Amino acid sequence: MAHFTVIGLGRFGITASLELMHLGHTVTGIDIDEKLAEQYAAELTQTLICDATDERAMAEISLANSEAVLVAIGEDMQASLLCTLLLKNQGVTQIWVKANSTAHHTILSKLGVSRIIHPEEEMGARVAQALNYPMVNDYLSLGHGLYVVEIKLPRLRKPATVETLIIGFEASISCLLIKRKDNLIKSPPLTFEIAEADVVLLCGTRESLIRIAPRFN
Ligand code: ADP
Repeated sequence: MAHFTVIGLGRFGITASLELMHLGHTVTGIDIDEKLAEQYAAELTQTLICDATDERAMAEISLANSEAVLVAIGEDMQASLLCTLLLKNQGVTQIWVKANSTAHHTILSKLGVSRIIHPEEEMGARVAQALNYPMVNDYLSLGHGLYVVEIKLPRLRKPATVETLIIGFEASISCLLIKRKDNLIKSPPLTFEIAEADVVLLCGTRESLIRIAPRFN
């Protein structure tokens, strides 16, 4: 369990905060809007009404115990940048910032924050991938062109084994896990027989995963 601070409780900030709470962490939510701070007081560990660009007010908030601070001030680029600078000056090392435009991104990258987030683009890419490969339930990019994909198998040709799915690509794709109801079969062997409602997690290069995609249709 870790503690996080989320600045800006708009749609993005509150969604991230509630998910962190759901994952068992504690969250301090900060917003300049007292209505929002009051609205989420019961759902987050604590909420504070504070102008995150006000150096003195921010100095009174203890950020040292936060694993990371997420700046989720979207629209107001000036406020987002000022707040980011303040956090840097206070010695916060893990700063994640939501960027709204290319200019915002460019300045943030010069400030050297830990991660710049583009929710719309990231979500857009995700939706496009899902439309493109409807059998892919979800995916996770591991970087360097490697992905973990979760696939469902609607029209499984029987009998199907792990080998049937990845044959020819054994060197670049591995089956990490098969989920069968609430059972998890970890690193199943190539001979493992897949049943129709199974959810399969594969890890491999983007290129090879795309090449085996027709096998799932
Ligand atoms: P979203 O798209 O996630 O809803 P918004 O830009 O609408 O993004 O929301 C950003 C939130 O950040 C709002 O709730 C707003 O009140 C808050 N906010 C804006 N400026 C400041 C600031 N200077 N200090 C603290 N919170 C701020």
